[in-house]
Amino acid sequence: MSKIILKSELLNKIFDGRQITNDEAYQIYQEAENNPFELYKAAQILRNENRGKRVTYSRKVFFNLINLCRDTCSYCTYKAEPGESKVSMMSKQDITNLASIGRKYRCTEALFVTGERPEQKYDEAKTWLAENGFSSTAEYLVHASEIALNAGIFPHTNAGNLTKSEMNQLKKTNVSLGVMLENSSERMTGKNMPHEFAPSKNPRARIHVLENAGNLSIPMTTGLLIGIGESPFELIDSIFTLRSIHQKYGHIQEIILQNFQPKSDTMMRDVPGPEGKYFKILVALTRLVMPEMNIQIPPNLSPNSYPDFLQVGINDWGGISPITPDYVNPEFAWPSIDTVQENCRNAGFELRARFPVYPEFFHMADSNLKSKMLEISDSDGLVSMEYLK
Ligand code: SF4
Repeated sequence: MSKIILKSELLNKIFDGRQITNDEAYQIYQEAENNPFELYKAAQILRNENRGKRVTYSRKVFFNLINLCRDTCSYCTYKAEPGESKVSMMSKQDITNLASIGRKYRCTEALFVTGERPEQKYDEAKTWLAENGFSSTAEYLVHASEIALNAGIFPHTNAGNLTKSEMNQLKKTNVSLGVMLENSSERMTGKNMPHEFAPSKNPRARIHVLENAGNLSIPMTTGLLIGIGESPFELIDSIFTLRSIHQKYGHIQEIILQNFQPKSDTMMRDVPGPEGKYFKILVALTRLVMPEMNIQIPPNLSPNSYPDFLQVGINDWGGISPITPDYVNPEFAWPSIDTVQENCRNAGFELRARFPVYPEFFHMADSNLKSKMLEISDSDGLVSMEYLK
């Protein structure tokens, strides 16, 4: 690695290839509160050295499969109650129709999202699943994924805490799976905290899912939700939790750093989103803790400033859909892919479409899925330019 001289002795150590410790990360955070620019510069250099000047995104269709949910997170507007107009229960025909539109738009990711085991709380969900021939949401996800795959779109499921055997089933059709850690602090599950009524968000439960996926060699997308009442040190600890899981199993393909945005119909409606500097410092710190990781921020959640994050260490924008809304953040439309491309170019980066599994994790995908991806990928394992024309 090139020898870079920054003013901070601590930051210079990372260029010797040495991993930073929790205590060092706390110290870097505290130094950055006064002057973040050295940290930003270090993160940018590490991104360039490890990920180059390429930024990726995944061209996706968002399948809002069923949005009833057993849990209640106090920031969530995605979840619906029976009878509400926003209830979504997609039939097999709905999935077939949307997959066919997605294929026409050259989407390569079928993002399947559901609430947490809705059938355990709501008879409406249980009955609807039974009428369609399924005993659980997970069973339906297996079928839904097959429909998308047959239409030529690669599934990636985020359905909360799936069991090991459910994930093993989904591995046949899903090139990767997703589960957000959100935060590793159990304090977030305490009284008046955002996960008080969401047992599935207990960090021990989430870590167990990530470990099961590691044992199954499933490429995983995970991430942290920033600004929900955590302390900076709890956030830094969460970054280290993800690093240690990845060091053990080698299966975390990307980390999403999602800035909380208050929703008017939720308990946290009056809590402001995280301050811009706080968010940026934590993005840059994540790059320092995991120099080679794929680090993503969702561009729609920072509509006026997302290109700035190219200067603090990110290398991915996550899924962007040309045809479906972000049902988790419905008030934030996706920027157009052309606009993102232009902003990347202006900042000196090349935007490329990837599959919902990163090229360096292709080897973990089912061999049938891998051969299907290779039919439309280029020699770098990205979606070929010809396919997108
Ligand atoms: S964030 Fe997920 S687990 Fe929490 S209430 Fe919403 S759908 Fe349920």
